[in-house]
Amino acid sequence: MQRVVCHFCDTLHEAPAVPEGTAARCLRCGVVLYQNRPASLVRTTAFSLAALALMGIVHGFPFLIMRAGGMQTELSLYRAAHELVKEGSLVIGWGVGLCTIVAPLMMACGMLYVCTPLLFGRAAPGARVVARWISLTEPWNMIEVFLLGVLVSLLKLGQLADLEFGTGFWAFAALMVCMAAAVAGIDRNELWDRLEVAGE
Ligand SMILES: [Zn+2]
Repeated sequence: MQRVVCHFCDTLHEAPAVPEGTAARCLRCGVVLYQNRPASLVRTTAFSLAALALMGIVHGFPFLIMRAGGMQTELSLYRAAHELVKEGSLVIGWGVGLCTIVAPLMMACGMLYVCTPLLFGRAAPGARVVARWISLTEPWNMIEVFLLGVLVSLLKLGQLADLEFGTGFWAFAALMVCMAAAVAGIDRNELWDRLEVAGE
């Protein structure tokens, strides 16, 4: 039996599986220890799939369209990162690429790899390693921060050129929501429990 420590009062509990839609609470202080969210695997799988589809749209369509002095420039997310590297902002360019392209892609693929077989009561080979890897990638998935940065710089750029959000931008905003929903869909403890039951 797995054990879990209450993050509020440090009491040690055994962690049995709880029925769907219910939560395990600390016996001493009543704080929620972990929960079995309804349809958690289906939700995480569906949102991860949607996230992958949105990534295709983000990279297939312009992110920003700029018009100044009769010239029109279309900027994709990949090109934005590429330009930053080319212009000498190597760290920022790689940072943008890592946080907005690589980390979300790895997380969505990882969640699909772990959760899809679990829907059928099976664990994919190495699912535990991948699940741990997802937890490590999570802090690098900084789509929201990037989006906020883009909006702030747009306010400044807006005075120099005519700006328009492209399809890629809206797909990126939707991607942010999908990734958050996919990550929030499943409880960490619940995932370990399910992997254990499935025999990984
Ligand atoms: Zn407690």
